[in-house]
Amino acid sequence: MIIRSEILDGISAFTWSRQQEATLRITDVSHPQKQQSRISGIYNDSNISVAIPFSDEASIENAIHCWSLMLLLGYDQETISQRMLTLTPIAMRLELIEGINNCTIINDSYNSDINSLEIALDFLNQHTQQTEKTVILSDILQSGKSDVYLYKKIAGMLAQKSIHRLIGIGQAISKQSEQFSGEAVFFATTEDFLKTFSFTKFHNQGILLKGARVFEFEQISHALQQKAHETVLEINLDALIHNLNYYRSKLQAGTRMMAMVKAGSYGMGSFEVANALQLHKVDYLAVAYADEGVELRKAGITLPIMVMNPDHDSFDAIISHNLEPEIYNLRVLAMLEDAIRRNLLPRNKPVKIHLKIDTGMHRLGFEAADIELALELILANRRIYVQSVFTHLASSDIPADDDFTSSQIALFTVVADKIINKVGHPVLRHVLNTAAINRYPDAQFDMVRLGIGLYGIAPMASEQQELQNVSALKSTISQIKHIPAGETIGYGRAGKADHDMLLATIPIGYADGLHRILSNGRGHIFIKNKLVPVIGNICMDMTMADVTGLEVKEGDEVVIFGDERSLSELAREMGTIPYEILTGISKRVKRVYFQE
Ligand SMILES: *Cc1c(COP(=O)(O)O)cnc(C)c1O
Repeated sequence: MIIRSEILDGISAFTWSRQQEATLRITDVSHPQKQQSRISGIYNDSNISVAIPFSDEASIENAIHCWSLMLLLGYDQETISQRMLTLTPIAMRLELIEGINNCTIINDSYNSDINSLEIALDFLNQHTQQTEKTVILSDILQSGKSDVYLYKKIAGMLAQKSIHRLIGIGQAISKQSEQFSGEAVFFATTEDFLKTFSFTKFHNQGILLKGARVFEFEQISHALQQKAHETVLEINLDALIHNLNYYRSKLQAGTRMMAMVKAGSYGMGSFEVANALQLHKVDYLAVAYADEGVELRKAGITLPIMVMNPDHDSFDAIISHNLEPEIYNLRVLAMLEDAIRRNLLPRNKPVKIHLKIDTGMHRLGFEAADIELALELILANRRIYVQSVFTHLASSDIPADDDFTSSQIALFTVVADKIINKVGHPVLRHVLNTAAINRYPDAQFDMVRLGIGLYGIAPMASEQQELQNVSALKSTISQIKHIPAGETIGYGRAGKADHDMLLATIPIGYADGLHRILSNGRGHIFIKNKLVPVIGNICMDMTMADVTGLEVKEGDEVVIFGDERSLSELAREMGTIPYEILTGISKRVKRVYFQE
């Protein structure tokens, strides 16, 4: 800091400077250890120095100010030295936070000017061990400089500080996008960024968040933070892709892959999963309802998407978002025809449909006998295009029903042939779900529909070892109590301590999807390498478990299901199937994604 003394004429000043004479003249700053600095100076003609447990520029500058003040107040140098060493980082502008996917986040979302950016970049380079660095930067407001000058300068700074990637947020920075030569993407608003950017791209990086207040970067910081202390559903996207590739390896050449992402990808979250599948080039996605498809389109998914339960009010959205409805009877066909009459078709292309045939499942689908009339109507309408014909197997995982399954496939073959003959252009045929892919290799037709196997659950036990576990439901212990023998635990006093018990309370309950039927010893939770029984009734938000004899402490991780404890086993305890558990994990449970 340089204060020109003539400005302070007549006022006695205490000054410090690194460059020129001053009351405290700083002569050297060295770093004897990684997170330490020794600041040396001359004061009253003697050489003095202090050590501080920081090495970034901002902290050094702050420390010199403090040092000056203490000297001015007359503290002796020894006291100052002692106290300086005990400084701890304060919650100041630059917050260092553990982020998702082994990222480190530096949060500096309180101000944005070019000087503080430089300090923050130094901090990023010093305080994050990851070699890859990303900067998320908002418009810089009120700089008093032209945008061209300002952002050119920033681009130079980012290059000089070896920043790998810039994410620019705001109108002004977006307009200057061509100034930035490295990897850079731009968004008009924070909301746009949060909605459309895939957070799995953040992996093993140091990330600096630097934004003006109005951009509300705390939302980004929140989204990037490691949520280790709550109940979370962890999803391993690498395992998902491994499973995809396993089933792909079972397909004949040319057979396509439709991935079922209905019900939020079996509870694992729609966009992240769909995005991974799109990157790995599946051919088709399928959702249950149109709004699931619309959400994927808004998030930038461009793959074809089949909608299995198109309802009356959804056809306008289906048409405008280029979704492809399943048509399973004449009523649904009529709804589509109505919608086509009242809408302009995007790029004037016909709406692609998927005809569902009921071959024995008896859920949705045309009876073989009804398909003639439907076809007449469809072929008379040039704005409808038959993209595929398919059926669903009722019992493909049950060997005792193999004759039934074969008869479903045989009936489908006959009906599909008839349809294709009439349509006169190629039509995709598809029948097999996960369980059937390995069991009915001759019925793969043109495409298969992979569901539960993608998510790591093999319908046939023999396949399980080929798959990787994708999801883990985890929580942490909120409280541990010693309960004397004879006491009761929880609602209705249903839990009884039949011994002096160490009891753990875990913040997950039936509102999260941990069914109440697991109460009173029926269910088990994995804690410290051991399965321990649930004690008493499961509450809406909490569950108690007997951890007697375990070395546990509050804050320790518990696993409801995951690598250590299979979902299938939990499903057996609950008396249900893995599908129901996964899709029943409530929305309030955060989904956290991992990818190498
Ligand atoms: C859900 C579903 C599938 C996938 O079934 P999995 O058993 O999960 O493989 C396939 N086809 C249809 C029509 C479905 O609804």
